[in-house]
Amino acid sequence: MKHSLQMYAKIAGQDVVDHLHQLADRLRGLKVVHINSTKVGGGVAEILHKMVPLMVELGIQASWESITGDSKFFQCTKSMHNAIQGERTEIPDSLLRTYEETNARNAEMLAEKVRDADFVFVHDPQPAPLAHHIAGRKGRWIWRCHIDANKPFRPVWKYLRTFVSSYDASIFSLSTFAQSLPHPVYLIPPSIDPLHEKNIELNEDEMRSVCERFAIETQRPVIVQVSRYDRFKDPLGVIQTYKLAKEFVPSLQLVLAGGGASDDPEGKIVLNEVRAAAVDDPDIHILLLPGDDHRTINALQRAADIIVQKSIKEGFGLTVTEAMWKNKPVIGGDTGGIRIQVVNHHTGFLVNSPEGAALRIRYLLYHREKLEEMGRKAKQFVRENFLITRHLREYFTLMLALLHGKEERIELA
Ligand code: UDP
Repeated sequence: MKHSLQMYAKIAGQDVVDHLHQLADRLRGLKVVHINSTKVGGGVAEILHKMVPLMVELGIQASWESITGDSKFFQCTKSMHNAIQGERTEIPDSLLRTYEETNARNAEMLAEKVRDADFVFVHDPQPAPLAHHIAGRKGRWIWRCHIDANKPFRPVWKYLRTFVSSYDASIFSLSTFAQSLPHPVYLIPPSIDPLHEKNIELNEDEMRSVCERFAIETQRPVIVQVSRYDRFKDPLGVIQTYKLAKEFVPSLQLVLAGGGASDDPEGKIVLNEVRAAAVDDPDIHILLLPGDDHRTINALQRAADIIVQKSIKEGFGLTVTEAMWKNKPVIGGDTGGIRIQVVNHHTGFLVNSPEGAALRIRYLLYHREKLEEMGRKAKQFVRENFLITRHLREYFTLMLALLHGKEERIELA
């Protein structure tokens, strides 16, 4: 559904929308291309689906392209993703060749669209070598890293860095992720769209019918984690957490809701492990949802008493912010972006183990007034920091800074 920017004034404030118009006026007519590796699944696609139309509405010629590749390519980029997030994964030369050749091929197909663009935002490692292959590129090329690059496995980062270095700037979500690069490095955390189907208010009937569809009992407590089936999201740790918490709250139910992203080849293996771990417990609901079933995700997040995001590594968990926007406290892994998303003891808890997570679940389910207070604070925190309007403003400010040659860092106020 298309939303007019003016609709955000009610949520974020008229001054915020006015400010966006002011900034965009100075960028009017410029050609901006975003490039990533999938249109469906995962946080980057989620953001671009809304970010690009809003830029267009503000008078910018924005568009979104996705590169394509075969399973070998995505096997390589998944290993690269894992290595940048700290896993000690050597990537065989044959896969790196596929990575480079795939990017060279995609560059040929995209050349016409990007050569004369004023700004090209290239998201994550998958398409990073593109810039290298576009001869005579005119505009500013920005590499946008969405993942937790706090302690990358050095040999893989060194390799990727050779491509990233040819960009004019890069963006990381947090200062602790920022790497040393020969160009300006900006800090911009991601955001959610409050008008997205995933985040709009839903009525009780719709929530109830979604729960009925999956045999979730609304009168019993339920914890939910929404995530791709990925080891860094620690779904097995969530099951362990649930089992520990259930010893104290026997009526507890767990929902793991996930789908695949087309650039994630490991999902099936992890899903099978998760199913095996849950096999003997009818109160664990493992859901595999289509990537565009946003209303179901919305309903499940709203039906939850508490949202869990027990990631071991996380660039920025959109699911965390989505849940907080729905007045839910979040028990999140004490890692990466989650550390700036969850204000420990105020909007949820940061945890380091299944035992810690179970303890917090038990506490919140026994202290309902605290649970509700944290939920209220969570929503306010998102309103002030993590809506798409703030994200757009920072992209515009960055574009203006690059156009006018200022090398300044932009940080969240
Ligand atoms: N998501 C979804 N369906 C699923 C799993 C995830 O729609 O089955 C959405 C989720 O609501 C969020 C995004 O995909 O908007 C995941 O972003 P996040 O930053 O949490 O994780 P990523 O997958 O990018 O690592």
